[in-house]
Amino acid sequence: MTRVALIAHDDEKPEMISLVQDYEELLSTFDLVGTGTTGQRIIDETGLDVERKQSGPIGGDAQVGAEVADGAIDAIVFLRDPLTAQPHEPDITALLRICDVHDVPMATTRTSAEFVLDGLDRREAE
Ligand code: PGA
Repeated sequence: MTRVALIAHDDEKPEMISLVQDYEELLSTFDLVGTGTTGQRIIDETGLDVERKQSGPIGGDAQVGAEVADGAIDAIVFLRDPLTAQPHEPDITALLRICDVHDVPMATTRTSAEFVLDGLDRREAE
């Protein structure tokens, strides 16, 4: 089953909820994993189930990275706040790097996320 990770910085969480609501039908066919707070908000505000890792700042991004290294994740939507420094920047950089190593697509904006999700949808239909 296609497994997708969903992560959003605090400023981007409303955008993540909006994206997930727009793609709820497709996402309901995927196995979803998320960082702690993002995952909880998706569970509370949509009808989707999300496997929650730790919150990002205390290791959630690193946990998602470990799954990428294991080949368990097909794509990541990581809506990052480009204007605010994050205390866990090293973990975020590590996650980006491990995605590049394993050629796992990571979308960091709404539009790129839509392209990645549409691509996964097409791939499922093939
Ligand atoms: P959070 O983590 O979903 O627990 O807020 C996101 C992040 O990586 O900052």
